[in-house]
Amino acid sequence: MQSLAEAERTAGRRLALVPTMGALHEGHLALVREAQKHADCVTVSIFVNPTQFSPDEDFEAYPRDLQADTLKLEGIADAVFAPTAEEMYPFGVPPYFSMNIRNLNRHLCGAFREGHFEGVATVVAKLFLACRPHVAVFGKKDAQQLVIIRRMAEELGFGIKIIGHSIVREADGLALSSRNQYLNPEERRQAVVLSESLREAKAAIERGERDADTLRKQIQSHIKTQPLAEVQYAEIVDSETLQPVKVLKTGQYLVALAVFVGETRLIDNTTLYLEEPTA
Ligand code: AMP
Repeated sequence: MQSLAEAERTAGRRLALVPTMGALHEGHLALVREAQKHADCVTVSIFVNPTQFSPDEDFEAYPRDLQADTLKLEGIADAVFAPTAEEMYPFGVPPYFSMNIRNLNRHLCGAFREGHFEGVATVVAKLFLACRPHVAVFGKKDAQQLVIIRRMAEELGFGIKIIGHSIVREADGLALSSRNQYLNPEERRQAVVLSESLREAKAAIERGERDADTLRKQIQSHIKTQPLAEVQYAEIVDSETLQPVKVLKTGQYLVALAVFVGETRLIDNTTLYLEEPTA
């Protein structure tokens, strides 16, 4: 991969990377199309990264179909980088990034998935070193991941432009996810409650609600209307520091949630900007 990337760079071409764990859907393909706009050569990495799963998570069950994924990428990506775990981690699990990444992993998913973002930061750093891109595209669906990767790329001076792409959704609002495959028809029906509750929260804010606790409770009680759905967290944080806020003022906020629908953990979020009120 490095020699391919090096040859492309020497030929003066701009390289883009779209890191994924495979089981590709339209959300991933939208990222690939976005990458095309910024580069001459788009690489998609497909790697179910063991270091970002904790022992009780779905690493083994995670859907894998490299052949189908490669077919989906035909005509839109120039290279697929699908290393094995042994190639990525020849010395076993690496100890890198075992720090608290400037508190960015303290809340939201970071509070519930111990070691997850350290695993993500490590694998993305390694993918950057292997694929040597000028730009990399990530989805805003994993909003905390995007903020952490952006910070890591800046702090370590990778010189890679990080692009965030908006969330791609099903017609009823459910954010596309490889994990949606786990849902049975009834769970799939109830899963719409994630995006619905975010839309309601946004509407409440537009009507003037500024108390984060009230908004959180509204989201939680909306989600409770679906018997198979159980909230893991519903948070309103500053979109840059990812620290919870009590009262919304002027600024940019992230309303983010993780919800179990049956056994399946789904995440979703929305960003909102509150401007200075005009006189
Ligand atoms: P994953 O394969 O789930 O690790 O995701 C790979 C990339 O695709 C990440 O940057 C995700 O944020 C992004 N992604 C996954 N689902 C969506 C979606 N529905 N809309 C936009 N980006 C997505």
